[in-house]
Parts: sequence; structure tokens; C-alpha cells
Amino acid sequence: MFQSRLAQYYHLASVALLFALLCAANVTGQENAPRKRFAIALHGGAGSDASRMSAEKIKAVETSLGKALDIGVEVVRDGGTGLDAVEKVIRFLEDDPLFNAGRGAVFNAAGGHELDASIMDGKTLGAGGVAAVRTVKNPISLARLVMEKTKHVLLASDGAEKFADEMKVDRVENSWFDTEPRRRELEKAKAAEGAKQSRIDIGEVHYGTVGCVVLDTHGNLAAGTSTGGRTNKKYGRVGDSPIVGAGTYANNASCAVSGTGLGEQFIRHAVCYDISARMLYLKQPLKDAVHDVLKKTLNPDDGGLIAVGADGTIVMDFSTAGMARAAADSSGFREVKIGR
Ligand code: ASP
Repeated sequence: MFQSRLAQYYHLASVALLFALLCAANVTGQENAPRKRFAIALHGGAGSDASRMSAEKIKAVETSLGKALDIGVEVVRDGGTGLDAVEKVIRFLEDDPLFNAGRGAVFNAAGGHELDASIMDGKTLGAGGVAAVRTVKNPISLARLVMEKTKHVLLASDGAEKFADEMKVDRVENSWFDTEPRRRELEKAKAAEGAKQSRIDIGEVHYGTVGCVVLDTHGNLAAGTSTGGRTNKKYGRVGDSPIVGAGTYANNASCAVSGTGLGEQFIRHAVCYDISARMLYLKQPLKDAVHDVLKKTLNPDDGGLIAVGADGTIVMDFSTAGMARAAADSSGFREVKIGR
């Protein structure tokens, strides 16, 4: 009698323990999927409408995105840091004239180039950005130096150029960023000024800002973004890309995010920080947080986002016709795409 009562108690206790363990493993719903060892996503700008691009252009963009992805995967797969992967991937894309960052940066209204970039470490919340730089070949590397060598987060224009002198990073003439396709975009934009034409009509079919988000094998998140901004922008205009919380954000407690699109909108709505806040405060899964910001907070056609969660969940979503993007993770998943 006593023995069977004891057996009943044991049975009840083990059922309760099992229930508690199952609950603990499913607090946010995100933890359902097995945690990835590493995950990486990158973008080459939202706005690209693959149906309006030539087959050669699509091939060239996809090939470059694929190479950038391989560079990032190689860094993290071998135990390198997410920050190193983000910097290497973005440097590669900055050097490719196909993208609106570094070499292929768009022209501003004055016929020159002013470049913006930022990087963030999800482990420490350390961050660095540079805005409106004119002679820095790889703005993402200068942004990282702001994070690592100064007590500041954002350096702009002449001050950032002076910092570049001190750091001895690679420099170029401003005209080195000139490319013919971008010049034609400026001409089109100028011709359309005043006329009521949509962003697509004036040729901003492929915006081309670049970004990268990574979960590394040490469990750390990192994010970075680099851009030439927007064609025909006013002197001194700074977009969201160098602004932590707007165009870039990373926090090990939630996610790493990089945005692309209409920078003014991303700044107004602190878009990348909002994705993280939604996860932390509303307990939203990453996918829902990104979806709600794109569909409910921002206007249609405002842009796109890439994000990776602390468990390695990858989300790449956009409200534009397309977004040049690529992603891979430790499970063997790999994708390179522009359209839906
Ligand atoms: N967000 C960038 C900016 O406004 C441009 C882009 O992503 O296309 O400067």
C-alpha cells in the first residue's frame, strides 16, 4: 500500500519535472528550432527589381553576392569573429562597383560622393560609424576603428577624414568613386527633379547599399552597413546607414540587423533598434518583428532588412520589388537571390 503510494508520487513528480523542462525550453517560441553554430546574411540593397535588370546584370550581382557570402562563411566556419566576417564581407562589396558603397557609391547633387558606414558588436554593444567621408576607400574599416580606437560612436565629415589620416587607412581621390552607371543615375534624377516621378521612374531601381549580419561560433552577433547614400542627395545629407539603431544594430540578447532603403524613414522609426526592442519587450519572434516594422511602421516601398537571431534564425524581408541578398548557416542552408 505504502509502496504503491510512493510509486504514484514518483510518477507525478517526474511528469511535473518533464513539463517544467519543456516550458523552460520554449519561452519565446524562437528556441523551438535547434540553435545554429553560425549564421550569416548580407544584402546588396533593396529596390532592385529583377524583372527590369538585364540577365548579365543579375548574374553579375548574384555572383558577387555569392563570393561575399563565401568570404563571410569562411571566416566564421573557422572560428573567426562575427565582426571580422562583417568587415571582410562589406570591404569586398565596397570594392565592387556594382554596389552603392565604396567604389560604386552614388553621386550627390554636387556631383561628388559622401559615404556612410557603421558596425556594431552585439556582445559589448560597442559601435562605430563614419558619416559623409569623401576619401576613405573602405568606410566600414574606418567605422570599426572608431569603435575600437576612440571613446566615440560616430565621426563625421572633416573630423572623420582627420581620423582617417591618423589611422593611416587606404585613401583615394573623391573622383575614384565615379562610375558611369551612377553618373547616368544622377543625370536622370536631375532631369526628373520637379517633375512628379516615382523613385523607380527616376532610375533608383537598384539602390545597392550593402550590409551584413552574423552569428559566430562563439555565440556573438555583429552587424554592419555601408553606403554612398542616395542619388542627388543634398550636401551634408546623412542617411541611416552610419546611425546605430537606425541602419545597423546588434545585441546578443536579441538579434543583429542591417537595413537598406529610404534612410530618412529608417532614422525616424529607429528601425533596426525597434526590431530588437520588439523581441525583448513584446517577445516577438524575429520574423514577426521584421515583418511588422516593414508592413506596419514603414510605408510600402521604403526598403528591406536582413537580420539574424541569437539562435541563428535568418530573416531577409523587404517591401520593395526586390532586395539583393544572400545567406548561409551551419546546417548547410545557402541562398543567393534578388527577387521574391
Ligand atoms: N539607406 C541608405 C540611405 O538612405 C540608402 C539605401 O539603402 O539604399 O542612405
